[in-house]
Amino acid sequence: MVSDQQIARERIAILHEKAEQAARDGEQDRAREYVRRARRIAERNRLSLPAEFDRFTCDACDAYLLPGRNARVRTRGGHVVVTCDCGGQARYRYR
Ligand SMILES: [Zn+2]
Repeated sequence: MVSDQQIARERIAILHEKAEQAARDGEQDRAREYVRRARRIAERNRLSLPAEFDRFTCDACDAYLLPGRNARVRTRGGHVVVTCDCGGQARYRYR
């Protein structure tokens, strides 16, 4: 038996891949659409999004972030700061 949550996780992983591919192709609007769909699926199934997904998407505008393309990455005092073109920032601790 495959649970709904497993199916949801798989769909999120696929959408993540598609978002990355679209972003690499310069199709930011399509990438955003995939990011939003993945977020909705996570919400509906009460799943938390994978850390990697969180890391590469902008909370403010849903863009899929590609450092050097539409995002800048800096390290600062044990944190990684990712700045989206929209000005949104995400901060992570080093591991
Ligand atoms: Zn943004």
